[in-house]
Amino acid sequence: MHVLITGGAGFIGSHLADLYLFQGEKVTIIDDLSTGSLSNIEHLRVHKNFHFAIETIMNETVMDRLISECDVIFHLAAAVGVELIINHQVQAIETNINGTDMVLRIANRYKKKTLIASTSEVYGKAEKFPFSETDDSVFGPTINSRWSYACSKAIDEFLALAYYKEKKLPVVITRLFNTVGPRQTGQYGMVIPRFVNQALKNEPITVYGDGQQSRCFCHVKEVCQAFSLLMENPEVEGEVVNIGSDQEITILDLAKKIKSLTGSLSEIRIIPYDQAYAKGFEDMNRRLPDISKAHRLIGYEPKISLDQILEDVISYCKQQLSA
Ligand code: UDP
Repeated sequence: MHVLITGGAGFIGSHLADLYLFQGEKVTIIDDLSTGSLSNIEHLRVHKNFHFAIETIMNETVMDRLISECDVIFHLAAAVGVELIINHQVQAIETNINGTDMVLRIANRYKKKTLIASTSEVYGKAEKFPFSETDDSVFGPTINSRWSYACSKAIDEFLALAYYKEKKLPVVITRLFNTVGPRQTGQYGMVIPRFVNQALKNEPITVYGDGQQSRCFCHVKEVCQAFSLLMENPEVEGEVVNIGSDQEITILDLAKKIKSLTGSLSEIRIIPYDQAYAKGFEDMNRRLPDISKAHRLIGYEPKISLDQILEDVISYCKQQLSA
């Protein structure tokens, strides 16, 4: 099988490339390195089954060739990270909507099965927990630009489902809940690499809000395994599936855990939201997935504990800091 991964030099994309190459498949990635990095794929460049294009997915000629040559597509190229999205809104909206439009349009030309990586942000500020795939999305007003990310990803989902229903393009939509692990950067706001790097440098660990907001963190390896099982299963075509862990932790407890696991001297510093983000920013208080659908479809059951995840990230960050 020949797998095409858009955003393949990114955090999740590079782990997915690892998985397929390990299984003996051929992998091509396309990445414009806007948030991905060559260091994520450095170890793959010698692999005979690995090919890469440093190019934007908006280049139709290149995309047409890559899609015509592959068997399946994982569309992971997107604007990611709350801070990046808030600071570069036009770019984020355009990348998410126009990029997905490009991928689906060409995928449909060659009828190539496509998995779209969506996000739990699509649930917005819904307050019914856990979030299950048929629940309503609840967004704030358009004047508050933080909702543009959720809306742009919701449009991606609508478009993919429309291709499935109207044009019989096989698609799979995954909604990811805080995927973490080695190679994730804290540069765009992601909390675990942020806290780990702060702790390792004995700098203040910056907890936003009151720290009582909670998240569930899932190891990237388990997310990639789920992607591959979802892609294989014909029953999943035209479906939206939550992928993540359902073990919750508050951000304050996460900071304490990271401080203790690293033996850090860092203080834990509480920073009000209006100092951390632009005025009017609304954080999600909880983000808890119902993962029963993934369990039913592919036997999905995340097993890697938060402590194991953190050990993995800590050793990666230590290596990076000493390099
Ligand atoms: N967060 C924090 N300090 C940081 C970065 C993030 O307290 O330096 C918080 C953030 O406000 C949110 C949680 O950690 O409540 C998870 O943030 P992340 O950006 O990793 O993911 P998301 O908000 O998309 O769940």
